[in-house]
Formats: sequence, structure tokens, C-alpha cells
Amino acid sequence: MGRVIAVANQKGGVGKTTTAINLASSIAAAEVDTLLVDCDPQSNATSGLGLAKDPARISTYHLLMGDASGEQGLQKTELEQLWIIPAHKNLLGANLELVDGERREFRLRNALAPLRERFKYIVLDCPPALDLLTLNALVASDSILIPMQAEYFALEGVSELLDTIERIRASLNPELSIEGVVLTMFDDRTNLAQQVTAELSRYFGDKLCKTTIPRNVKLAEAPSHGKPVLLYDVRSRGAESYIQLAKEIIGHSTPVQEMPTPAEPAVEEKQVVNAPRWKRWIKERNKLTTINILDR
Ligand code: ATP
Ligand code: MG
Repeated sequence: MGRVIAVANQKGGVGKTTTAINLASSIAAAEVDTLLVDCDPQSNATSGLGLAKDPARISTYHLLMGDASGEQGLQKTELEQLWIIPAHKNLLGANLELVDGERREFRLRNALAPLRERFKYIVLDCPPALDLLTLNALVASDSILIPMQAEYFALEGVSELLDTIERIRASLNPELSIEGVVLTMFDDRTNLAQQVTAELSRYFGDKLCKTTIPRNVKLAEAPSHGKPVLLYDVRSRGAESYIQLAKEIIGHSTPVQEMPTPAEPAVEEKQVVNAPRWKRWIKERNKLTTINILDR
């Protein structure tokens, strides 16, 4: 059964979409079938993966309204093992149209249920609000990954998010756990970042991810080319950090011997055993090869 992870934080601009796109694509690059579901009317994950705006296309809106199945919403992406269910700004309407809907919090969960057989990981990109869309995402999920910036007010608003998680656990989804808190746009050279990290570590304990995501211009540029950073600049610090995060998150739910070990390694790399290998798209040659980015 696939694992569903919601990337959520009601605070705006903390790196949810960047994390959802690049986590999902890094997992897919380890030869694991992965689905990204855009649950945000801003549709940044959709455009960030190069899909043009198209109100006629089946999207998350149709899934929530019961007009289409999850299967019908699947779109291929440039990465062989990554699919997306796109969003459109019409999703904003679902928030209102569903207010009196029957079992309105379970719409996404029900639509995604049949896809859990097919995808090992399903990553949901949430909007910056604790609205009915985020609620649907959290009810549909096994866990929540919370991107956060290491800034002075980082913890402001977190208690509201944690309260929401508790209320969902108590009523709608008892299985919901915290996958982790990941620090984004991180600059460990500043004293402030270190102080805030220490505080977050006291607050979240081992839920604070060991991987931090640095501020990296390639991460900001990649969506304007409609690509995950892996396909835009695989050697950037941004790409490496999201591969590292994918490895950490796969490790949460996978025994070591089941970690992905795609493709036979090149001869000179054979001495590196058991390290997951991640595909690198070499566009000039128009083929996929595997390199070991993590242990370089
Ligand atoms: P919203 O709440 O509006 O949905 P968000 O939480 O999804 O925002 P993003 O869209 O991922 O946040 O990021 C906000 C901005 O910061 C974007 O312009 C993005 O390109 C940039 N950004 C995110 N992470 C990084 C990073 N690690 N390094 C550099 N720029 C980043
Ligand atoms: Mg976003």
C-alpha cells in the first residue's frame, strides 16, 4: 500500500510547493512510482512541472466534486515514474461548493484510495490555509511533512497547525502522523538560524528532519522552466538536498534491505554497496543514466 504524505503549513511562502515537487521527483528518480497531487488553487505545483493552465483538463477539483476518478486525473510528467493530478484555480470554488456537501472532508481520501495500490508514494501540495482543501488533504494522508523557515517567528502559527492535526486525529483520521519538520531556505552560517534550529529541535525532537534545504537559486529557477530541480541542475545543492530528504523520508517507512537499488551500477562505482542510486537525466544524450549523487 502506498504512503500518502501531505506537505502542509498554513503559513505562505515557506517552501511547500518546492518541497512537494522536488521530494516527489527525487523519490520517483529512485525508480519508485510516485504521484504528486496539486491541492492548491494557485496551481504552482502544476505549472512548476510544466503543465499549462487548462480548465477543461481533469483536475483535483473534479476529484473533490465526485465528477472524476483519481485514475482519470493522472497526467504524465517528464520523469518516467512521476505522475501528477493537476490543479486549476477553479479549485477555489470547491471550498465553497463543498460547504454543505456530504462527507465533504473525505472526498480526496476516497478519490485517492484506489491509487494507493499503484503508487508507492503520493505527495500532496497544500494551500497556505487551514481550509477545507487542506483538511481534505490531511484526512487523505498517512502523515504530514511541515516545511518551515528558520526565522524568528517560525513557531508562530505552529501551535494552530498542531491543534488542527490533533483535532483531525481525534475525529476524522486517527492514523495521521507527523512525517517531519523540514527547514527550508536554510542558511546555517547565521547565528539566528542556529538558535532557531536549536529551539525547533527542542520543540519537535526527532521529528525535525536531519536534512535541511539550503537557499539555492536553482530551486527558485527550475519551476519557471517547468522542471523539478533534478532535471534542471542535478548537481546543484538544491537537487542534492532534496535527494537527501527523499532518502531520509523513504527510510522512515522502509526497512534498510528494501531501500531502492535501481539499475546495475557502473563498474567503477561497484565498490559503493547498498547506497541508493538515483537516476540522472542526461539530456544531451537523451537517455537516463544512474549516478550516485549522495556519496560523491
Ligand atoms: P504558498 O504558501 O504560496 O503555496 P509555498 O509554501 O508553496 O508558498 P514555495 O512556492 O515553494 O512556497 O516557495 C516560495 C518562494 O520561495 C518561491 O519563489 C520559491 O521558488 C522560493 N523558494 C522556495 N524554496 C527555496 C530554496 N530552498 N531556495 C531558494 N528559493 C526557494
Ligand atoms: Mg505553494
